[in-house]
Amino acid sequence: MTKNKGHEPIIDRRYQLEETQRATEIIHKAMGVAQNEIVNGAVATYIPELGKVNPNQLGLCLYPLNGDKICIGDYNVRFTMQSVSKVLMLIVALEICGLDAVFGKVGMEPSGEAFDSLVELDVNDTKPYNPLINSGALAVCGLLVKEVSFLDMLRYARNVCVDFDIELNEDVYDSEMKTCARNRSIAYLLQSKNIITTDVEDVLRFYTKMCSMNVTAESLANLGKKLANDGVCNIDGKRYMSSRTARIVKTLMLTCGMYDGSGAFAIKVGIPTKSGVGGGLLSVSDKRAGIGVFGPALDAQGNSIAGCRLLREISNELHLNLFYDPEWNKEDAGDIVMQEMEK
Ligand code: GLN
Repeated sequence: MTKNKGHEPIIDRRYQLEETQRATEIIHKAMGVAQNEIVNGAVATYIPELGKVNPNQLGLCLYPLNGDKICIGDYNVRFTMQSVSKVLMLIVALEICGLDAVFGKVGMEPSGEAFDSLVELDVNDTKPYNPLINSGALAVCGLLVKEVSFLDMLRYARNVCVDFDIELNEDVYDSEMKTCARNRSIAYLLQSKNIITTDVEDVLRFYTKMCSMNVTAESLANLGKKLANDGVCNIDGKRYMSSRTARIVKTLMLTCGMYDGSGAFAIKVGIPTKSGVGGGLLSVSDKRAGIGVFGPALDAQGNSIAGCRLLREISNELHLNLFYDPEWNKEDAGDIVMQEMEK
C-alpha cells in the first residue's frame, strides 16, 4: 500500500460493506429473486444480432474498495457494452476536449424520453438533453472523433476495465450499422443544428464501434471501482481521470443513466448506474464498490430487468443507497411529524 499516494482504502465505518461471506450469501439470495424477473423482459431485437443472445443469463461482479471481489453467475460472459460506453466517451471527452466544449454541445438534464428519441431535439431549438442518451452521446462523439481514434478508446477501455480481452464485436457492429437508421437520423439532425461539425458517417461508425465493445460484468466492476474511488485505482494508486470528471460522470449516471427510468431507479436503488441494451449495468457505489451486472432480458425502457431487480435487492440488503447512513435509520417518523404539527 506504500504506492497508494493519498488514496488508502477508506475505512470510515459508513463505507464498510458486509464481510465477504455474508455479502456473498446476500447476493446469492438476491440472484434467486432477480432471476424470477427474467420472464417479464426480452432481449433487444432492433439490433438483430442482439436478438440471438440467451435471455436467461444473469451475472454480477461486486468489487469493494476494501475487500474481496464477489463474482456470481454469468459474471465473465462477454456482451456488448452498448450505452454503457457512453460513460467512457464522456470521461475521455471531458478529459481531452474539456468541460466547456462538452457542455457546449450537450445539456445536463434528464430527458424523460426514450434513449433514441429525436422528437424533442427536432421540436426544440436545443442541444441534446444529456450525454447519456443517443443524441447526446453522438454529439460527444462529434468532438471525440477529431481528437482520438477508436483504437485509442479501446486501449483506454482495456486499461480502466483491467480487461485486455476487450475487442470490437464485429458481428454486432455490422448488424447495428445495417439497422441504425434512427441514430443516423439523429446524427444528421445534429449536423443540421451545427452540433456535429465533422463527417457524420465517421461519427456514426465511431459511436457504433464504441457500443460494440465486448466486455464482462467483471470488467464493468473494475471501471466502477475507479469511479467510486475518485478516478483512482485503489490497488496501485494510479489515476485514470480527474476528480472533477469522476464527479460529473457519477452525477449524470444518477440523474440520466437509466433514461426515462432514471428517477424511479434513483429512488428504488439509489446507486448511480448506466445501462446498455446489451444487458449491461455499470454501477458505482460511491466510496464503497464498483458493480458490474449482465442480464440481457430488458424492460420497456431498455434496462436489464433482472439486473435492476438484483441491484435493488443488494442495495437494500447491503445498504448501498447513496443517501443511506447507518446512523440515520429511523424508517417511520409520522408520529414525530404529527407532534411537530400539534405544537
Ligand atoms: N447501440 C445502441 C443504440 O444506439 C445503444 C442503445 C442503448 O444501449 N440503450 O441504439
